[in-house]
Amino acid sequence: MIEWSEQHQMIRDTVRRFVEAEIVPNLEELEHGDTPPYDVLRKLFSTFGMDEMARSRFEKQIAREKSGAAAPAQSQEAVAGRGDAAAMQIIPIIELCRFCPGMVTAMGVSMGLTGSAVMSKGTIAQKERWGLDLLTMNKIGSWAITEPGSGSDAFGSMKSTARRDGQGGYILNGAKTFITNGPYADIIVFICKLEEDGVEAKDRKILTFVLEKGMEGLTQSKPMRKMGLHSSPTGELFLQDVHATADRLLGETEDVPARSGAKQTFSMERTGVASMALGIVERCLELSLAYSKERIQFGKPIGEFQLIQDKLARMEVARMNIQNLVFRQIELAEVGRGPSLAEASAMKLYSARAAMEVALEAVQIFGGNGYMAEYQVEQLCRDAKVLQIYAGTDEIQISAIARELLSN
Ligand SMILES: Cc1cc2nc3c(=O)[nH]c(=O)nc-3n(C[C@H](O)[C@H](O)[C@H](O)COP(=O)(O)OP(=O)(O)OC[C@H]3O[C@@H](n4cnc5c(N)ncnc54)[C@H](O)[C@@H]3O)c2cc1C
Repeated sequence: MIEWSEQHQMIRDTVRRFVEAEIVPNLEELEHGDTPPYDVLRKLFSTFGMDEMARSRFEKQIAREKSGAAAPAQSQEAVAGRGDAAAMQIIPIIELCRFCPGMVTAMGVSMGLTGSAVMSKGTIAQKERWGLDLLTMNKIGSWAITEPGSGSDAFGSMKSTARRDGQGGYILNGAKTFITNGPYADIIVFICKLEEDGVEAKDRKILTFVLEKGMEGLTQSKPMRKMGLHSSPTGELFLQDVHATADRLLGETEDVPARSGAKQTFSMERTGVASMALGIVERCLELSLAYSKERIQFGKPIGEFQLIQDKLARMEVARMNIQNLVFRQIELAEVGRGPSLAEASAMKLYSARAAMEVALEAVQIFGGNGYMAEYQVEQLCRDAKVLQIYAGTDEIQISAIARELLSN
């Protein structure tokens, strides 16, 4: 793939019109008010039939699983069209990130991380109970692994626990932090360790439970104040003796390999960041180009100064590189493959750093105006920083890449 097809461009233009009509006029409220992003996201879903597409995929998967048929083989025929399907998911991410990266985070965590956890590890009954509502954004989901004392070392330092209640259920305790959608989530995927006598903390099984708003002992905090990404509510979760019946244990078995599932989740999150970065970079470059032509200093447009040209040229190089990484994801989907964890880490590391550099240079090109909230580069710069932190910090991506390189 060397460029977006005509069909992709048509979809892009339609989504762009939606963003300009529904999001741009409300940006102030979404970014600095108390308006959660969910109603606009639901409108996006219904406008583009994304909810109906999700429903149809869900129904097909459930029918296949109920009939006991195996997942379709990865023959060329079976995977044909998956590239376009991937592009259909990526284009709205890019377009939303040109204005509101927080909305993509809120949507990606709910539908992507939380929905996928249920759909990949749940029983058929659990998928029917929670999966469809998450995939259609009918309900809002949170995926909770990070704790005050465990971030990068998510499993090793995890303190949240599940204790068997002796009647087939569990008693859950713990605190989670920095949880996207935490304050508003209807459905929460909660990851913890099984407390067993005689088993050391490092050897304890990782269990995943599905909890719901309003359960006794579960407290969802107010949104936390943060540097950027204001349209994505982030919060804490506190669990004090929350009783979970066995049907809330994902997969209804203690033997689901949670760590391997987490690897898939990490890959998905990391490649998603490349598309987010592309939206931020495209928009920063577009704004910087326009400003470089209109801002006059020393009697000429600042775009005529070589030091400004250097910034613009570097932005374009970053845009081209990230776009190529996104095209590669679409190509991989077309042949029924996904990137390895190390490749996903490399995509994330490069794209997140590039987006941050581009956004900082955009602020520089705008001078004093760039530091003012009235100019959009200020928001994009604050938003870009998170790409280097969540879904694994830059340092953790470097370890993942180096680990794979050194293991060969
Ligand atoms: C806006 C936002 C939304 C988030 N949403 C969610 C969510 O929905 N669900 C969820 O579970 N979590 C979420 N997170 C948490 C996020 O995944 C963590 O913040 C991230 O993994 C880093 O963990 P930490 O903050 O504890 O930093 P730490 O792990 O304490 O790291 C501190 C510093 O040490 C470095 N470091 C740590 N270990 C190493 C190492 N081995 N080698 C070199 N350097 C190292 C890090 O790179 C970093 O620079 C979110 C975070 C943010 C900011």
